[in-house]
Amino acid sequence: MTELFRNLPAVDTLAQAAQALLADPTLPHALVVEAARATLAEARQHIAQGGSAPSPSALAQATAARAWQAAQPSLQPVINATGVIIHTNLGRAPLSTAAMAAMQAIGTGYANLEYELESGTRGSRYQHLTTLLCRLTGAESALVVNNNAAAIYLALNALATNREVLISRGQAVEIGGGFRIPDVLRQSGATLVEVGTTNRTYMRDYAAAIGERTALLLRVHTSNFRLAGFVHETALADMASVAHQHGLLLLDDLGSGTLLPTAPYGLAAEPTVPESISAGADLVTFSGDKLLGGPQAGLIVGRAALVSQLRSHPLARALRVDKTTLAGLEATLLAYLYGRALEEIPVWRMISAPPEELYARATRLVAQLGAAAEVVPCESAIGGGALPGQTQPSFAVALSGPATALAQRLRLGKPPVVGRIAHNHLLLDMRTVLAEQEATLVASIVAAQQSLGTTRPEHYTSTTTLNNREEHYDE
Ligand SMILES: *Cc1c(COP(=O)(O)O)cnc(C)c1O
Repeated sequence: MTELFRNLPAVDTLAQAAQALLADPTLPHALVVEAARATLAEARQHIAQGGSAPSPSALAQATAARAWQAAQPSLQPVINATGVIIHTNLGRAPLSTAAMAAMQAIGTGYANLEYELESGTRGSRYQHLTTLLCRLTGAESALVVNNNAAAIYLALNALATNREVLISRGQAVEIGGGFRIPDVLRQSGATLVEVGTTNRTYMRDYAAAIGERTALLLRVHTSNFRLAGFVHETALADMASVAHQHGLLLLDDLGSGTLLPTAPYGLAAEPTVPESISAGADLVTFSGDKLLGGPQAGLIVGRAALVSQLRSHPLARALRVDKTTLAGLEATLLAYLYGRALEEIPVWRMISAPPEELYARATRLVAQLGAAAEVVPCESAIGGGALPGQTQPSFAVALSGPATALAQRLRLGKPPVVGRIAHNHLLLDMRTVLAEQEATLVASIVAAQQSLGTTRPEHYTSTTTLNNREEHYDE
């Protein structure tokens, strides 16, 4: 064994051999040396366990592969074939071409981020989107922060520290990833006062809970779950009238928020931002990267005096957004202003895609895959905490072959493809596959199926409706 250990190459020798194998001569040598050390440690362990010594060329190859892997970017573009449009784990909203162009233009140079061009004096980064957001939502003023969680945190810190916040018991929810409304309240120094019961909360419950220390009423869109059956939540306009009668504020956390109605696409009506403003909410918060279809951001719209209070709060700086986010968001909002959101914003293109179009796309893909795939009906979901339990009819490419193994091969492909398994088949839902990704997707499927050996098609049969509503509650 000592002999085997002694015969292993020195770190530098191995690193040099590996560097010679690498196609990219610019790969940092330090990475190759590190990879050589790790490969040798592995070889010693293998020998210590009674194994044989790997050949020098095997060691060099393992080192080169390890070094190359270490230099690859961790973040990769992925083809989303899950049918979940706002997939939090896959990066939520894909950005529009216009948003990306604006981010590129602003990000690669300098910009008037905090600069008044007319006077040549210092300006505010907050002014850029205010007019546009007000026009689109009907609000008096607006503020953009890092995300909706930050928006809620800032609002509660600025308006409710050391005071009470009334919230319906049914709305004291966990949004996902451990983000719980009661915890955020506690962190901001506010006291949560639960109102009503889990399933029913009335106007009179809010009125009865108002006391000396009450700062505001908070409505939280329950986003990722649905109360059904014997339920009642107080309408926002009624909450506003209770709040305002007592000289209090109404804060509405819309979660996703939307500027366009969802009902025309066979979905329940997701509350829109203008509806919340006109119902009397003093501040409304929502995400930039959910149904709005833009970059990650938290949007706060509402009464001018409150927005300016939030802007001057010390936390605002810690939660502010950078110039590229503002640029992407502005371009996204402009699509709404011009009435081009359905065509321009990927999230809305997907929501509004008619099933016939998805069928045609699935058919086109299957034609290229031959007997290895077939078109099947399925149901896609919105995700992102919008419209829980709601699905839209769609079409998927069902692949023949062992579903779990195929799913893994596709996930590990370049680019990775993520589908979903139903009835022992891997389904690739066309609703969330971008049109320009189709050719790549075909190539990935062919590669994955070939790497597993061609299998005889087993026909996909299903007696129940397929949907993915159970899987994507964590937002
Ligand atoms: C998604 C969501 C949040 C968190 O928004 P982020 O933009 O992810 O920070 C907060 N509240 C509700 C109701 C949500 O749906």
